[in-house]
This record gives sequence, structure tokens and C-alpha cells, in this order.
Amino acid sequence: MKKNVVLYKALSAPLMAKLAAETDVTSIPDPTSAEGLARLRDALPHAHGLLGASLRIDEPLLALAPQLQVVASVSVGVDKYDVAAFDRHGVLLTNTPDVLTETTADTGFALLMATARRVVELAGLVRHGQWHGSIGPAQFGTDVHGKTLGIVGMGRIGQALAQRGHFGFGMPVLYHSHRAKPSVDERFGARHCALHALLRDADFVCLTVPLTAETKGLIGAHELSLMKPSAILVNIARGPVVDEAALIDALQNGRLRGAGLDVFSQEPVATDSPLLRLDNVVPTPHIGSATQETREAMAACAVENLLAALRAERPKDLVNPQAWRG
Ligand code: NAP
Repeated sequence: MKKNVVLYKALSAPLMAKLAAETDVTSIPDPTSAEGLARLRDALPHAHGLLGASLRIDEPLLALAPQLQVVASVSVGVDKYDVAAFDRHGVLLTNTPDVLTETTADTGFALLMATARRVVELAGLVRHGQWHGSIGPAQFGTDVHGKTLGIVGMGRIGQALAQRGHFGFGMPVLYHSHRAKPSVDERFGARHCALHALLRDADFVCLTVPLTAETKGLIGAHELSLMKPSAILVNIARGPVVDEAALIDALQNGRLRGAGLDVFSQEPVATDSPLLRLDNVVPTPHIGSATQETREAMAACAVENLLAALRAERPKDLVNPQAWRG
């Protein structure tokens, strides 16, 4: 008999066909709406697998799904999942690393460039008919090439950023991670350092750490005060890694040149957030991996992981190997 899968993210036709060939699929496009939640609750008691993203899955939800074997997340970040609860229930959790690395690094660099060169602000000036002559110093941006790039979290995406900064823009690279990575030092001429030293010396600080208990609030008022007033913060990690109120304060009071933000403490960001009124902020709606090619590759990866787990094969991208009983 086919296993039951609850799908809470749209899939392309080929991926849907692949999934439906091996499983019975129940699609719940918006599991956070009242109607979607009710349908999810009905489906969970029979579900062997879940596939989707951005839905918090924790103890109460897992308790409704006694047959559940695997949750295949269409994301690399796993902060929405209570992994300890997954382990207690013997449910496998998979993610989609690697396939989104380059695209997310592209997004990081796009934000870095757009903030430094004030692309969005000045495009708005043109669009609104306020380009009356040659622009002057009040509209000048700041150079990117040759400046110091600081990367907090030198993992897959951090290294893809380092590659862009080092080879593309001749930037000296500093990084802060749990440990030094000699291969990274060698490839990108990078230097591992303490967080406070990175914040003090970098012209661009890019956050690429996962959101964990350890990284929540990692960049607060004190950390922001260590940064150069001419520096730019780029957050492509998760919103809660930064104390948003402290960031707003620093930006409003000229203690930071600007910020490129793909992620926020609350998403979608509140329309009355002061961040949206600041010209020196470039906000994007969590688009790190949002290209057609990469989202399709992520979905394909999640389908592979889910089907493998349901066939009792070890999935390639297992987040909690401790729950594997293969
Ligand atoms: P990864 O390869 O696991 O890299 C994460 C790095 O963070 C690791 O190298 C780790 O250092 C470091 N780290 C973890 N905790 C740290 C801490 N407390 N202090 C300093 N460094 C710490 O993950 P990835 O694939 O690069 O993805 C990183 C994160 O980016 C994801 O978890 C996700 O939240 C975010 N992301 C966002 C988007 C978006 O749309 N904006 C898209 C993709 C990913 P060690 O190696 O030394 O342990």
C-alpha cells in the first residue's frame, strides 16, 4: 500500500508526478490558515511523511502524527523544527543543503552591493522624477572592492561569499566560526578571528550562521557599537540573530552606514517597522534561495529525501542521524 504524504508547498508538475507515483499525496497549500490548520490536523494521524517549509513543527504537532516517519524540509535552516522532539518520536528530519549555497551567496552580495552603492534609494529618485542633474556627495555611495569582508559563520554559504569577495572584489576576508578552517584560510587568504575583532575591523559584516540558542541575539547593541560607523551589516541568516531594536537604533543614529536585510525578527516584517522608513536599509522578503532553478533543485532534493526515508533507505540530507534506525 502507498504511504501517505502531506504536502504543504507547491511542487512543479514533474516533481508532483514523481511523488504521486510512490505515495498518496494530500496537498494543503496554506497550513497556517484556519482552514489549512484544520485540514492538517485531520491528515496528520494518517501521515507517514510531510514535505514543505516554513511551518513550525514541534511536540504538539508530532503527537498528532503517530505514523510519521519523515519530515522533508525545503530549506537548509532547521530552526522551525524541534529536533529533540523529532528524536523522541523517532521521526527523521531532512533539509536541502548545498543546492542553495551559491544562490544565497549571490543574494548576500546583491544586498551588500545595493546597500553600499545605494542602488534602491537612488533608483527611487530616478523613478520619482527627482533626477535633476549630476548627483553630488550627498548621494555618493561607498566602495566595495578592496574593503574588508567579515563573515560570521564560515560554512557553505559563508565560503561562497568569501569566494565572491576574495576573487571578485579583492577583499581581505575575516571570519568568525566555531573553529578556524585552514582550507578556507588558504583558498581565500582569510583569517579566523574573535567576533569582537571581526566587528571592529570589517567594512562589511555578513551573517551566515544558523539560528540556534547560541546565535539568537548574537548581534546586539554592544556588538553593533563595536562596528565602524562606516560599516554595513548584511543579514542573510535569520532575523533573530540580530537584536532588531538595537539595529534600528544604530541605523537611526548614524552609528552604522546601512544594512541589507533579507530576514527579520518577524516575517513578513510589519509594514510600520522603522526599518522600512530608513533609506540606508535595503530590505528583501527572505529571497536568499528564491530563483526558479534553485527552488526547483531544493524541492527535488526534498522529494528525494522523503522518498528515500519512506523506502527505508537512509536519506542523503539527514539532520538527525540519531533517529535513523536503518
Ligand atoms: P552551514 O554550512 O552549516 O554553516 C553555518 C556555519 O555557521 C558553520 O560553519 C558554523 O561554524 C557557523 N556557526 C554556527 N554557530 C555559530 C556560532 N555560535 N558562532 C559562530 N559561528 C557559528 O550552513 P549554511 O548552509 O551555510 O547555511 C547557514 C544558514 O543560512 C542556514 O542555517 C539558514 O538559517 C541561513 N539561510 C538563509 C537563507 C535565506 O533565504 N536568507 C537561505 C539559505 C540559508 P563551524 O563550522 O565552525 O561549526
